[in-house]
Amino acid sequence: MQVPFHRVYLSGREINYIQDCIERGSLAGDGYYTHRVQDWMEKSWGTYRAFLTTSATAALEMAMLCIDLQPGDEVIMPAFTFVSTANAVVLRGAIPVFAEVDPDNMNLDATDAARRVTARTRAIIPVHYGGVSCNMQAIIKLAADHNLTVVEDAAQAVGARYEDRFLGTIGQLGCLSFHGTKNVTSGEGGALLLNQPDNELLKRSEMIWEKGTDRSSFRRGQVDRYTWREIGSSFAPADLLAAFLNAQLEDIDLITEQRRVRYERYRMALKPYQERGLLKLASIPGYAVSNYHLFYFICPSESQRDQMLNGLKEQGVETAFHFLPLHQSPMGQRLGYHTGDLPVTEDMSSRLLRLPLYPDLSVKEQEFVIEKVSAILEKW
Ligand SMILES: *Cc1c(COP(=O)(O)O)cnc(C)c1O
Repeated sequence: MQVPFHRVYLSGREINYIQDCIERGSLAGDGYYTHRVQDWMEKSWGTYRAFLTTSATAALEMAMLCIDLQPGDEVIMPAFTFVSTANAVVLRGAIPVFAEVDPDNMNLDATDAARRVTARTRAIIPVHYGGVSCNMQAIIKLAADHNLTVVEDAAQAVGARYEDRFLGTIGQLGCLSFHGTKNVTSGEGGALLLNQPDNELLKRSEMIWEKGTDRSSFRRGQVDRYTWREIGSSFAPADLLAAFLNAQLEDIDLITEQRRVRYERYRMALKPYQERGLLKLASIPGYAVSNYHLFYFICPSESQRDQMLNGLKEQGVETAFHFLPLHQSPMGQRLGYHTGDLPVTEDMSSRLLRLPLYPDLSVKEQEFVIEKVSAILEKW
């Protein structure tokens, strides 16, 4: 049996909305489906304003423009994240400052982040790994104490919550991803959420989104022509992609539930091995309501992780490990970091392994994966 690492979920209605979008005759950004999806996000998640973007990468870059990040400013983030979190900062000439993760869930360690605050720190980017919320109470307090802006990287956390609040809606700004590998997708896509009723920021963000112009005001009939008013770029996706996304978002609860069932099946099957000290499972804190974006466990050593990965590959089970800590990358070294700077992150990430998890993973396939994982564990 071959079990792929990922399979895309399809509602079956994507084509209908795309067909409708074509018939409406308006394919560019900021169209009918863009507004429909943005309105849905604002109402369903309780955010002040949602902007659809071409990716979470674009949303992060747009966020850094929105907060007017300046060269030399520092932004604290975990080293255990995707490159886009750091690129968005570096693109503005600002400095990513890498902090440790909590070994229980691979999320930003707020206590370690606090130690890295300086007079130049402008913002903090908590990354909700696997759709499990960071300790937002601690992060919001840290930000308030030092007057920092919180920009959530909720790329993996669409539909997940911190207590009763949706991730991406808690910081001043939140960034979501609809990439092909995420829970809800448009192939490539994302969103920037503005969470405070700040009219000045809203006006500026609209212009940044629309290539630095006041085209949004023009579209609403508030000005009779539009012109260049701000720094900006092309952040809005084609309406065709918003049409596709509309079908996916309609199924978000179903997608989460199907992932939850499979996540729990893995967890129950592997729990006895945790009790025997052969692996460590993620622990979801009481304040977090996960969207079950991924399932991972931590092996006793890096060589055992590699042995597990290769052993499963031979049996036809595709697994993955990420992220490679950014401070150990060539770019991270150029920023002045060295291996050894973030020992918890380095240790945990070198032992982490992810198993296939998606709504279409059949019981048979999952039992096959569990059987192969168990066979290797039994030899340790
Ligand atoms: C996927 C991901 C991104 C980037 O998302 P794109 O939509 O592919 O740009 C950023 N941050 C994290 C934590 C991610 O997992």
